[in-house]
Amino acid sequence: MFFAQLHNRFSSPFFATFFGNSIIIAFQFFFIGEGYLNLVLLGPPGTGKGTIAKFIEERFGYTHISTGDLLRGEVAKKTEIGKAIEPVMNEGKLVRDVIVLEILKKKLSKVRKNFILDGFPRNLNQGKMLDLLLEQLGIGLEVVLEIDSDENVIVKRLSARRQCVKCRRIYGLDVPSKKIGVCDDCGAKTVLRKDDAPEVVKKRLGLYNEITKPLSDYYASKGLLVKVDGNLPLQNIFSEVESILAQREK
Ligand code: AMP
Repeated sequence: MFFAQLHNRFSSPFFATFFGNSIIIAFQFFFIGEGYLNLVLLGPPGTGKGTIAKFIEERFGYTHISTGDLLRGEVAKKTEIGKAIEPVMNEGKLVRDVIVLEILKKKLSKVRKNFILDGFPRNLNQGKMLDLLLEQLGIGLEVVLEIDSDENVIVKRLSARRQCVKCRRIYGLDVPSKKIGVCDDCGAKTVLRKDDAPEVVKKRLGLYNEITKPLSDYYASKGLLVKVDGNLPLQNIFSEVESILAQREK
């Protein structure tokens, strides 16, 4: 709040004339990350959404909320929900909307702002459910970032992808763990996820094009959609994402 007020004050026309543009730019650069923004990450599996979310987390201090991770957490803890959804997830099918929504609601009520929502919504119905949920909780949505990549790039990336069994960090072609099969952060084992097997990946991509892709138009019509080319090298994607978010932070 304090930084946001300072930021506004020093961006006023009076100070702009008084100190000159260079000082304003320096202040803006210094205070990037003190603003407020909630965003949804859209894009097929294997476009590096997890890695991009991690970058945003570190650069802007936001909280990454991945419904896939929340659901895998239930499976790992062997809760009643976890036992019911495990076979569905292993086949690469979607978990029932009501189950995902309930788990997401718990998480969003705690986090409330500066979050990156990844993996939800997955279809138009969930998009509308999310609108209602955010309205109910009095939470805003400022940006929907859509990352898209070519199918062959996706299949190559996913077959090389590994996830830590404990902290769920993702490693891939661009960001491998320092020691093969071991997580840099917590030292636990990293494994190929069952749903990253090639035949399951094809099913997930088909599902994405059929039911998730229409969300792109849905958010474009609300003026929230910003597209990023996921075929670019990771560093270029990071720079693009950084400038988009810095411009949109409130
Ligand atoms: P992800 O890590 O986002 O690729 O999700 C892994 C799996 O979790 C998916 O293949 C689904 O089985 C399940 N899942 C994640 N998010 C959702 C969602 N929004 N709706 C239904 N199922 C989901």
